[in-house]
Amino acid sequence: MIPAPFEYFAPKSLDEALRLVERHGDEAKLLAGGHSLLPLMRLRLSAPRYVIDIGRVRSLHSIREESGRLVIGALATHHDVETSELLHITCPLLPETAAVIGDVQVRSRGTVGGSLAHADPAADYPAAMLALDAEIVATSSSGTRVIPIAEYFVDLLTTQLRPGEILTEVHIPRPAERSGAAYRKLPQPASHFALAGVAARVTLGAGEKIESVAIGVTGVAVRAYRATAAEQMLIGKIAAPKLLAEAAEKVTDGVDPLADIHASAAYRRAAAAVYARRALDAAIARVGGKKS
Ligand code: FAD
Repeated sequence: MIPAPFEYFAPKSLDEALRLVERHGDEAKLLAGGHSLLPLMRLRLSAPRYVIDIGRVRSLHSIREESGRLVIGALATHHDVETSELLHITCPLLPETAAVIGDVQVRSRGTVGGSLAHADPAADYPAAMLALDAEIVATSSSGTRVIPIAEYFVDLLTTQLRPGEILTEVHIPRPAERSGAAYRKLPQPASHFALAGVAARVTLGAGEKIESVAIGVTGVAVRAYRATAAEQMLIGKIAAPKLLAEAAEKVTDGVDPLADIHASAAYRRAAAAVYARRALDAAIARVGGKKS
């Protein structure tokens, strides 16, 4: 099918984009990489009257370090993240996550902001962003607000973003010195979306005890979430194999796993435990910048 007719805008600045979003309200859709929006429009599951292509807003493309934190522009593509030298040095979890998204075409067009705004329950970045305690920066014509990632994902394809807001940046605190992080997923073989994907970040303290841990899970439920029961089990303890195995079993505690043509709820629950264990093992092996 071809999309329903729409009027196309290609603003060159954020101010211009914000004015268009404000003027056209619910009848408009932002276009970033188009890898979720365009399939929906072709199926006529989405039929916006106005499409605002923000791809030419140069200020949203950068990946940089600012005031001790990492700043990722909404229009950074998955390829930009995968190949960013800064991120490889400071936050390798993100390049590792970007590298397993879709295929080359998807990674060269799809954007960080588009993925996080769309909030597909099987998308990869949400798990990593949860594990990294990221902050979402939302800008409207009346100003900017910062949304902690733990509050950002609300429901299936639903976030805290309000009409009139553009996701402009993602802020990530620089990971602590003695920390390691890893993302492991079971991909759906055709699309590579996660049937279960787990990102773990672990910081070790005195006596090699786990000082802090953050586990983000995607693919399993209607929205990505932090596995707090598993995290609580690990805090203050030495990362012994038995403890890690028990904690991994808890990553779906309190969650109602999805069931669809790709996997049953029981399968997703079992896969989440396996991939949580793998992510935790890899994160701990990387503490202090070790490669694994
Ligand atoms: P678009 O499609 O342009 O937009 C998506 C939605 O977000 C639209 O509603 C749009 O209005 C809104 N939006 C876009 N940017 C902003 C913004 N800055 N502020 C507010 N709203 C905004 N993803 C994975 O994580 N893992 C995978 O394995 C994977 N496999 C894929 C395989 C295929 C074949 C395809 C087509 C996609 C796959 N994706 C996967 C999704 C892909 O990663 C894209 O990132 C995702 O489609 C959205 O990003 P986009 O830039 O294309 O957004």
